[in-house]
Amino acid sequence: MSPRELPIYELESAVVSAVRAHGRLIVQAPTGSGKSTQIPQMLLQHGLLGERGEVVVLQPRRLAARLLAKRVAEEMGSRLGDTVGYQIRLESRVSDRTRIRFVTEGILLRQMSFDASLRGVSAVVFDEFHERHLYGDISLARALQIQQSTRPDLKILVMSATLDAGALQTYLAPCETLVSQGRSFPVRIEYLPKTVNFDHDAVWDVAARECERIATTQAGDMLVFMPGAYEISRTVQAIQGSRALRDCVCFPLHGELPPDAQDRAVARYDTRKIIVSTNVAETSLTIEGVTAVIDSGLARMARFDPHRGINTLLIEKISAASADQRAGRAGRTAPGVCVRLWTEREHAQRAPQELPEVKRLDLAEVVLTLKASGIDDVANFPWLEKPDPKALERAEMLLADLGAIGAATPSSRQDRRDEGVAPPGETSITDVGRKMLRFPVHPRYARMLLAAQERGCVRPVALMAALTQGRSFLLRGVSRDVDDAREDALGEEHESDFFLLMRAWSYADRSNYSLEACRRLGIHAQAARQVGPLFQQFLEIAEKEGLDVGERRVESSDVRKCVLAGFSDHLAKRLDAGTLRCELVHQRRGLLARESAIHKAPLLVAAEISEVEGRGGEINVLLSLATAIEEPWLEEIFPDDYRQTRGVVYDEQAKRVVSRRERRFRDLVLEAKVSGDEAPLNEAAALLTKEVLAGRIKLEAWDEAVEQWITRVNRMAEWFPELEVNPITDADRATLIEQVCYGELSARDVRDKPVMPVLRDWLTQEQLAVLDDYLPERLTMANGRRSKLRYENDGPPILSARIQELYGINGKFTIGHGRVPVKIEVLAPNQRPIQVTDDLTNFWREQYPKIKTELSRRYPRHEWR
Ligand code: ADP
Ligand code: MG
Repeated sequence: MSPRELPIYELESAVVSAVRAHGRLIVQAPTGSGKSTQIPQMLLQHGLLGERGEVVVLQPRRLAARLLAKRVAEEMGSRLGDTVGYQIRLESRVSDRTRIRFVTEGILLRQMSFDASLRGVSAVVFDEFHERHLYGDISLARALQIQQSTRPDLKILVMSATLDAGALQTYLAPCETLVSQGRSFPVRIEYLPKTVNFDHDAVWDVAARECERIATTQAGDMLVFMPGAYEISRTVQAIQGSRALRDCVCFPLHGELPPDAQDRAVARYDTRKIIVSTNVAETSLTIEGVTAVIDSGLARMARFDPHRGINTLLIEKISAASADQRAGRAGRTAPGVCVRLWTEREHAQRAPQELPEVKRLDLAEVVLTLKASGIDDVANFPWLEKPDPKALERAEMLLADLGAIGAATPSSRQDRRDEGVAPPGETSITDVGRKMLRFPVHPRYARMLLAAQERGCVRPVALMAALTQGRSFLLRGVSRDVDDAREDALGEEHESDFFLLMRAWSYADRSNYSLEACRRLGIHAQAARQVGPLFQQFLEIAEKEGLDVGERRVESSDVRKCVLAGFSDHLAKRLDAGTLRCELVHQRRGLLARESAIHKAPLLVAAEISEVEGRGGEINVLLSLATAIEEPWLEEIFPDDYRQTRGVVYDEQAKRVVSRRERRFRDLVLEAKVSGDEAPLNEAAALLTKEVLAGRIKLEAWDEAVEQWITRVNRMAEWFPELEVNPITDADRATLIEQVCYGELSARDVRDKPVMPVLRDWLTQEQLAVLDDYLPERLTMANGRRSKLRYENDGPPILSARIQELYGINGKFTIGHGRVPVKIEVLAPNQRPIQVTDDLTNFWREQYPKIKTELSRRYPRHEWR
């Protein structure tokens, strides 16, 4: 079929006029219609790219980008890299003559962050948009921003096989949507009659058997969907080993294959062909001649793993919508059949649709990319679908912890970090952050690789990064025998659980993942096998960025420093040696896993943090994959987050003020200890005063007489305002106590401190003299006797005296040169008040005669006049 006959050409004139009219367009047409290969050519041929501009076609998959470029170059009769080129993570075939450039998602976003006006780009095409990759979402938002600001001439096209266009249409408005139904033939769906457990009957064997069965009834090529490279190679082996299928050619198809192997898979053959592919063949690529699809129903999917705080690729069940797309591959050129390797009942339980990545991935990497483009307020970025605010906060917190972003002013950053608060939205990218951006991996690993380069240990760090990606291959809770065998083969370990894991992986790798050898040490051979390609991938990325990936002797401490660089947000301090309890940065607590080998280190970093429900329903935070850390490294690697502070505290045991030195990493107090330093006297006095005011230290000299003195001062201020005496308030009392305490450190010394000298200082010499004159402590009466005066906060001063002391005295008393009347409290011989009066003359005449008889009878030995 000539490309001109493809269904998409029905839309050609509509596409051209819509792009001209709005500069925006949504195209929806089934897989195989010709969207990816033809639309870029239409743009070029109709002059929509201007004289020399290029169209950038965004592809979610590297394999698709390369094969599409190759195909389009062939159709246009040009050499790959000439008019038509591609650019993917580790490879690029472009030149300055290139007009149609297929790229993977990260490439475009990075180009936007380096050149915000996208010079030389006339159109951007977002292909396979229904997959809703995070980078696709973000790049589209950025493209719209660019179109609305500096580049109104930029053309934006969004294409997909299936699309819930409603929300997208509103987002892109004003924008037209063009739909083509395409042409397809019916596909019969078959399910397995009963559930198969792939742990017992391997998925590749089941798939090969289904191929054999279908081959007897159906002509044409077959397409088998498997989740990843390993399952694909096992399936190819099974098919090639089958007698019933010996007349077929069978090819693997996935992104890790060399280009010529990829080309072989899509080429045409005279004999029947079986292609075993990842979901790249689901909608990105069309393989001609397929009439039967065998679908494992599985795919490797990226998802945020809260245990490790990274995105991981795990094998998961695809959604019903994906399964329908896969089935559709069988009906391109003739009626077809699709065998699903699961039951119809199970099918009903599958999710109808995949969640968009923005809802299921860690956002750290894109947030960093946005900040690199100067978009600091990421919450208000024009997201097509807003991410969970918590996910954004978590991403910013992690980036701050990695040192990739920070507030513009270092001091405000510092304060917030000490409080353990997530940095606010206005943080910007740092120099470290910019360097990290060069590595197309999760920021944790970018940070680790940077640290590794500094320390000459890129290789082991790349391996560690690979080890944290997949699922754990070292089985837990193994028998005694296995435990012993492990110790024999792997040795003891006290520095990092990673080192044990690395040795276990080398062991498995050397044994070529032999099931027998792996079982002996409790190693999940298949999981261990997946580490190798990831390791290679990290090495390639590192090498591409100019890091030294050579084999060399490395210090264990250097490798451990790199773990710290990547996981500083998982730093934990053991609370005591007797238990496994730990305290972590960001106010968390947890328990170190029993099976960790790192039981002696007081400081560690846990690469995995998981929450497990305890027996009583409580949530326990479990720390595993631990690495011992030494404190000086914290300051070395994160100088802004490590602080030594001094402080002064009142030690309740020693009952004295002591100096303390505290060392903190962010909000985690690493150690607080008493130092020999002299406490500053003013701080010591303040702390002792607090103790005195709380009643925990008693000032012996602060007695009733002192209280009377204070009352006298206060009454003097009240009665004789012209003397300008300041009254002593409660706050002033604290100041006075502080002055008493000044110069002392211990409760004992404070207790015996004299008080009056400090109090006297409250008044001037003149005021002091006036105080004793105006408000004397004692009053000399007409009979020569001196009696004590009592001052209270209310009412007049009171003179108390026994009746016998008052004989011969008459009239009223005053103090303060006659201005303050005094009340007289008349006491019985037992010192009990019997009468209060302000005029004695009156007392002798009125009251005294009435009580005299009674009193003289009761106290006969006293004189009764
Ligand atoms: P769409 O993007 O709508 O799914 P494509 O533009 O990818 O469609 O493909 C349109 C048609 O071009 C396919 O049906 C197929 O016939 C042909 N084609 C595309 N790529 C290749 C290739 N690498 N080799 C052979 N034919 C191809
Ligand atoms: Mg396509």
